[in-house]
Amino acid sequence: MPGFMGMMLGVTPAMAARLESWRFDRNLNRLEFKTDVNIRPRAQLIQNPTRLVVDLPGIKLNKPLMNQPIGGAIKGMRVSQFDPQTTRMVIEMALGYNLDPKLIQIRGVSNVQWSVQLPKPQLNPATPPIIPTEKEPTPISLSSPVPGISKPSPASPQSTIQSIEIEPNSGRLIIRGDQALTYGTHLQGSEYHIILNNARLADNVTGPQLTPSSPVTRLRLRQDDSQTVTIMVEPSSGTRIGDLMLIDAKTLVLTLRRSLLPIGQPGGSSPGIPIPVTPHAKFVVVIDAGHGGPDPGAIGIGGVREKDVVLSISQQVAALLQQQGIEVVMTRNDDSDVDLEPRVQLAEQVNATLFVSIHANAFRMDQPDINGLETFYYSTGDGLAQMVHRTILQNVKIGDRGVRTARFYVLRETSMPSILIETGYLTGQNDAPLLATDNFRTQMANAIARGILLYLGSG
Ligand SMILES: [Zn+2]
Repeated sequence: MPGFMGMMLGVTPAMAARLESWRFDRNLNRLEFKTDVNIRPRAQLIQNPTRLVVDLPGIKLNKPLMNQPIGGAIKGMRVSQFDPQTTRMVIEMALGYNLDPKLIQIRGVSNVQWSVQLPKPQLNPATPPIIPTEKEPTPISLSSPVPGISKPSPASPQSTIQSIEIEPNSGRLIIRGDQALTYGTHLQGSEYHIILNNARLADNVTGPQLTPSSPVTRLRLRQDDSQTVTIMVEPSSGTRIGDLMLIDAKTLVLTLRRSLLPIGQPGGSSPGIPIPVTPHAKFVVVIDAGHGGPDPGAIGIGGVREKDVVLSISQQVAALLQQQGIEVVMTRNDDSDVDLEPRVQLAEQVNATLFVSIHANAFRMDQPDINGLETFYYSTGDGLAQMVHRTILQNVKIGDRGVRTARFYVLRETSMPSILIETGYLTGQNDAPLLATDNFRTQMANAIARGILLYLGSG
């Protein structure tokens, strides 16, 4: 990666930094944009009409104004030169729709690439939109559901917050639930709020003991209602709020960085609600160990269980990628039961660059001659599948059963390149004894991690 400072010093007014590309994906409700140098966007939500404003300091547009009508709950988007130094991107809601600022996630996919994930726009009850009526107008009773308003999503189990701690060495804030966590963030003055949805505080949770050397001067916990918990974090002076990441579905980690620089407050006296921006020069890879808990997956020769084999391989892949500076999120990091849907939701929520699901295969016990590696993808995972599959074959002694497409849920429902690796046959006479050994699992993990790194390097 070229040196950031060097690039900035080389910029003259005639060759100012540019917005290279932008695109609003209406299916994903997501704005993606790319600049030619490292920048730090600022964002705020402004009302009447509701619009999200994202400012790109230091970026010059080569066109005066660009418009993209979107339709539905989002009216459209425009990009303009706000002042000589700032390009402004505005996403405007249709009349009557609002956005929950806590659920807007802005993050860097790389130094020069950003994504702005919007939540599903909500109808604002204060200004109901005109719902077209049928020829015979039927009065809508207040107790019956109003057509056109989204139904509540299927209930996932509520997560009880078991502990909130500060790790002594790293100074990271660790929030642990007993079920998958979903969250939003919000900045109020210098206080950072983490809003946990569908969560409740366990009775005995008190939060960390703070000392004068803690990275946090005050930490408050609040049960807002039966299913919302807010954690309010006041960083100590010289501490910067860093990334907030799920390290597995149930564990949320906030990085707190000691910094000599003062904390910048974007927006100044602006009337909007500032949205925290998560900078990221890194990739986020989701490692999905198949099965777990009461679901053992395949059971092979000698009683080897798929869930154990794939957890061991997955943990090693995760550690290897982390050593290379890749942000890794695991869908499970122990023998727990995670449905397919939260695995996909997790990948979407952390805005994963890649999703890699690790499994082991089985056929029939009376067919021990079926052995070998298989790698699956659905749509965009083709290149990743080829790269990882080839790297495994080059480094691990295993048969080749090819790369194929498959309509597996975790491949079909994820929006990023995703693959599913069947690391051999637990019912195979060649593969089963190997999959039972630590040595083979380590070799497999090394090869998978290498394949992922090669793909990210060339991607
Ligand atoms: Zn499996």
